[in-house]
Amino acid sequence: MPFIVAIDGPSGTGKGTVTSYLAKKLKLMYLDTGATYRCVTLKLLNEKVSFDDEEKIKEILKNTNIEFNKNKVFLDGEDVTLEIRKDPVNNNVSQVSHILEVRKAMVDLQRKMSEGKDVILEGRDIGTNVFPNANVKIYLDASVDERVKRRLKQNQEKGIKSTEEEVRKNIEFRDNNDKTSTVGPLRQAEDAIYVDTTDLSIKEVEKKLHKIIKSKKRDEKWIERGYITTKNTWMKRLRRKFIKGFLATLYHIFYRVKITGLENLELNEGFIICANHINYLDAAAIVLLNKKFIRFVAKSDLYRIPIISFLGHTFDVIPIKRGKNDLASIKMCLKALKNNEILGIFPEGTRKGLQKNVKVKNGAVFLAAKAKAKIVPVGIGGTFKLFSEVRINYGEPIDIMKYKTDDPDWIDNASQEVMNKIVELTDKK
Ligand code: C5P
Repeated sequence: MPFIVAIDGPSGTGKGTVTSYLAKKLKLMYLDTGATYRCVTLKLLNEKVSFDDEEKIKEILKNTNIEFNKNKVFLDGEDVTLEIRKDPVNNNVSQVSHILEVRKAMVDLQRKMSEGKDVILEGRDIGTNVFPNANVKIYLDASVDERVKRRLKQNQEKGIKSTEEEVRKNIEFRDNNDKTSTVGPLRQAEDAIYVDTTDLSIKEVEKKLHKIIKSKKRDEKWIERGYITTKNTWMKRLRRKFIKGFLATLYHIFYRVKITGLENLELNEGFIICANHINYLDAAAIVLLNKKFIRFVAKSDLYRIPIISFLGHTFDVIPIKRGKNDLASIKMCLKALKNNEILGIFPEGTRKGLQKNVKVKNGAVFLAAKAKAKIVPVGIGGTFKLFSEVRINYGEPIDIMKYKTDDPDWIDNASQEVMNKIVELTDKK
């Protein structure tokens, strides 16, 4: 799986310098997406095309070739590395980058250039639009004063003449344009890490980002491993039996566990157990205090912790990436159901989801419908305070297809029905 790093933020935050340093240090391909927009701008200016002339722009885009080679930028085979940093381009690039057709073509090009590679991209909409599933997203920011100072120094070093006023005007104009654009606006992705570089030197920013990306890379490695179900060797079975016995004994020592309805698990086919989620210990309680082998579905992030990864592999926990369409995880679940295995899923999606008013997740019903599998609701009551009572009440299997209607929202509605059953069972003494 390629590793993708997205660095977004306004101009003058040091994105370019930092990204090219990180690319070398972490052996990632470096893609300066701003340069692609700059190339198109240069071409439109050279060919004197009006920015309103959609047809002409479309035609130009079809016949434009942008390439990067050894820190140089080539437009239709010509080295334009310096040209695209000069004022005519500076003053028009923002406008050009917000032409819908240009945007579409450049996003396509950026994705194509990155295909199958470990890559670091810098731009404005990488984490939100180009690669919303990037492994690491960083949003770099700095005050306008600081950015003006940096850009002036950069221009001086490159031998480009400019006054403070010109640079400030250009930065403020581009900021406003980039942030208010209707296509690919500059915005921090929800899951991006925000780094304010105003009071940091470039070296400090590089160090900080290097640390963030390296640790994410290590985490990803562990998470990736979570998607590989290890072989069910006798060693693994023995390990599982031993850990299960040991932890189950601890459970009985520290909690007064009451279990009802175990007969509801006697199905001769694969099915899904859906429970409420009040504490991390509840999944363990279901898995450990049960003769059946239950494979829980848990957020993939947990696999980045080595000890959890070990336990996850021992109990064949299926990882799932939250908030993403995790096809690999869905496939693993469907395969398990087909093999007559039992899955454990928390429709609340997160701990105490009901209390937090989180909408019930529909993944369990979706899987049940796909695999034509039943759902066994489980209500977990009591508390996980030491020596307190914990109740695990298994309910009767639900044939989810009974809820199927022509309403496109039927999966959501059925998920809510399952949740209502779970809540009912939670109160059972
Ligand atoms: O990063 P750089 O300053 O070279 O980008 C030039 C311009 O290209 C930006 O001001 C912005 O308008 C546009 N851009 C964009 N989306 C990107 C990268 C750059 O709209 N991903």
